[in-house]
Amino acid sequence: MAALTLTALHASHGGCWLRDGDVTRTISKGEAVMAAADTALLILNAPLVATRLGYPDLSGLDVLELYAFVHPARFVVPTPKGLAHALGLTEPQGDADVARLLQQAAETLLDTCEAADWPEREGAWTALQSLVRMRWPWATLLTGRIAKPQRAERWLFSRLPEWEESADQPQPRQVLLDEADVLHRLEDLTGTGAEQRPGQRAYAAQAAYAFTPRERSGQPHLLLAQAGTGIGKTLGYLAPASLWSQQSGGTVWVSTYTKALQRQLRQESRRAWPERRADGTQPVVVRKGRENYLCLLNLEDALQGGFAGRAAILAQLVARWAAYSRDGDMIGGDLPGWLGTLFRQRGITSLTDRRGECVYAGCPHYRKCFIERATRASAGADLVIANHALVMVNAARGRDAAARPTRIVFDEGHHVFDAADSTFAAALTGAETIELRRWVIGPEKASRGRRRGLSARLADIVSYDEAGAKAITAARAAAEALPGDGWMQRLAEGAPWGPLEDLLAAVRATVYARDESGGQEAGYGLETEAADLDGAFVEISQAAREALADLRQPLMRLGLRLEALLEDPPDWLDGQGRARLEGARHSLTWRIDLLAAWEALLARLGGPVDPEYVDWLAVERSEAREFDIGIHRHWLDPMKPFASVVLEPAHGVIMTSATLQDGADWDKAVARSGAEHIGVVPRLTEQESPFDYAAQAEVLIVTDVPRGDIPALAAAYARLIEASRGGALGLFTAIRRLRAVYGRIADRLARAGLPLYAQHVDPIDTGTLVDIFRDDPAASLLGTDALRDGVDVPGHSLRLVVMEQVPWPRPSILHRARRFAGGGSAYDDSIIRARLAQAFGRLIRSRDDHGYFVVLSSAFPSRLLSAFPAGTPIRRISLEEALHRVSSHASGETEPEGQNAGRS
Ligand code: SF4
Repeated sequence: MAALTLTALHASHGGCWLRDGDVTRTISKGEAVMAAADTALLILNAPLVATRLGYPDLSGLDVLELYAFVHPARFVVPTPKGLAHALGLTEPQGDADVARLLQQAAETLLDTCEAADWPEREGAWTALQSLVRMRWPWATLLTGRIAKPQRAERWLFSRLPEWEESADQPQPRQVLLDEADVLHRLEDLTGTGAEQRPGQRAYAAQAAYAFTPRERSGQPHLLLAQAGTGIGKTLGYLAPASLWSQQSGGTVWVSTYTKALQRQLRQESRRAWPERRADGTQPVVVRKGRENYLCLLNLEDALQGGFAGRAAILAQLVARWAAYSRDGDMIGGDLPGWLGTLFRQRGITSLTDRRGECVYAGCPHYRKCFIERATRASAGADLVIANHALVMVNAARGRDAAARPTRIVFDEGHHVFDAADSTFAAALTGAETIELRRWVIGPEKASRGRRRGLSARLADIVSYDEAGAKAITAARAAAEALPGDGWMQRLAEGAPWGPLEDLLAAVRATVYARDESGGQEAGYGLETEAADLDGAFVEISQAAREALADLRQPLMRLGLRLEALLEDPPDWLDGQGRARLEGARHSLTWRIDLLAAWEALLARLGGPVDPEYVDWLAVERSEAREFDIGIHRHWLDPMKPFASVVLEPAHGVIMTSATLQDGADWDKAVARSGAEHIGVVPRLTEQESPFDYAAQAEVLIVTDVPRGDIPALAAAYARLIEASRGGALGLFTAIRRLRAVYGRIADRLARAGLPLYAQHVDPIDTGTLVDIFRDDPAASLLGTDALRDGVDVPGHSLRLVVMEQVPWPRPSILHRARRFAGGGSAYDDSIIRARLAQAFGRLIRSRDDHGYFVVLSSAFPSRLLSAFPAGTPIRRISLEEALHRVSSHASGETEPEGQNAGRS
């Protein structure tokens, strides 16, 4: 087909460029908005361009949407440079070149659709017919380029392969690993000829301890392993893990906190296991929570009218991806993280099974379901790569007790405490209760979707089993007492409806009356302890408790009825129905437990304080807008339930991290492992980092940027980023300050050719932001907690970390209780040291990395300096001196020196 030249628009903080035909000119923002309102322009990442132009309604021909259609499930960094790399085009040298690149990229992608060897051709023609009807801007340009296939294309749902049922796994053989064999396996994994790393060898030998046969029931072998950055701990534990699984036939679970490490593990495990076994099964499986995967039934519903407008186009692009996806993982898998944000709404989450509405074998796609496939594959795997939350949830309420993990490596082990804290917490809030109401009753408004209540999901019980039908009717009636649509509005108007809304109204009133955090004016969330509540509040909470009990009773009766039906199946119950009942029984148990936890929480209000828990009332707000209200309960020490649910049934557990210890102190790590709750004495091991921190890094404590002075803070960030020529990661403890700094410096840096990106500002998901940062050594990235240890960027792209201040913990009610129990300021100090150590750990990821770690703090306490690795030079200096050091290094004048200016 003849080449066509589309008008392209590029907008960055540095300006706007319009290319019409083959002429590019700079234009003002106003002209850019007018041009975009006039015609559908070629753009890259419409939401981002819209933010740059301050024109939220921007739409056009987004090259990323075309890319998602032409190359579904193929990785691309969504920047001009990333696009150029993915398509084999010349990288643009500056902003002025980008509009031309967009034209070339569009041509290349459109041409691909005409090429005979387009690998993702199948399904494209059929999807295009739907997209034409939906008036997708690209559809007319694609029509005529995609040839109608000679034979009708298979529907997505018939193309996907079915998973195979397999026999239950026998229990693993008890084997004793020989140390020489472990070290030999390590050599196999690292490769012959690789340099021998003594720290890694010692680590692997120690890790084998977790795989020795257990001597006593309830007493796992527990190893706490401090592994300095760069020792190669991943292969260090994969060596004994792979040997053990080979000899025993059992499964090892490796649990991580970040997606970056999951990705790395997936790659490193290739050294020990092939992609597929001879029988076609997978020895290594990545498992995530079910809310991460595409639910095919939800997708089918979306494709058949459940989604309208732009969301319907998103559903088509997701369907294209589903046919080529490795595993159907929508969050952090091979679905581009940027796809959801292009459509500026929550379409992605409504395609997953987030609300637990799965109908299991009652689903027409059950045998092709990505979630079921992952679950089955993990049962027969040698290695399961999962995350902390999933391992805990699986141990607490996994469907299949026999498939629960017994040999577990918690990598990024310093996060186990936080993961346990949220897993074992209870929250009785408006958002949670309305979810439960919808799960029982179904949605209130006539919804376009397939979401249905319990009676629709268990239609055969309703029709054939009287006792079951009665229980469902009773549950439905009792669920009416839970908050319904518009609850927040009714509370704001002082007109709550029903016992639970009464409770939430009382919570709200109490929180506003008591909160003294200073958050009321600042627009933050508010909270107050659940203590000394008055008689009226206690009365309301008891009425709410009774309403919850009234719902729990029929659900329990229904659960018992399902069990009876499964034990003695009636004629009408076929195999499919049976699997459906099993699934329903599982999700019922989970809801019954949830209701019981809420009742227990309410029962204690007004009574004596239980020292095991911390309870508080909260109004969640974002920029002064309320979004949830409720009562929260956390364990004072969440490692107590963790110990009984995860550790006790396990045979061997490793907790490992570069920041497990607090300085050289093991006490905190041992206390935070949960070992003492089950009377286990963990084995401790420590391997130091092989990096030469004295030569590779410097800590600069800048003492003359006044705290709370936003203009000065912004200026310091801008100048530091300019001094290092980008490559900076800026870490903030408050989103408000991050936004203020970003707003002041982004334009200035862009004009100097130093792009700046920011979490909570740019409409781009965090994973993609890190990909963009990694890909461009001139780019810098600002962010909050998630970036403190979710960023793994070895090499030149990250050479400066700047913390805006000492990362003090937020003085929440939960923190105050733990601080009191944990030794006051010593508790705070250990949290801050851990945060500093994690942030510092971003800087030096390999032997060739060099960089500066800057903290802007006029009064950095000396007792926190032990957070940094021994030997790292630390200087307290002025901003001018810091700029001098950073810029001289950036221009190649000096390397960070080995001399230590003192740790005080
Ligand atoms: S089995 Fe459940 S999760 Fe899977 S596609 Fe069907 S409804 Fe969705």
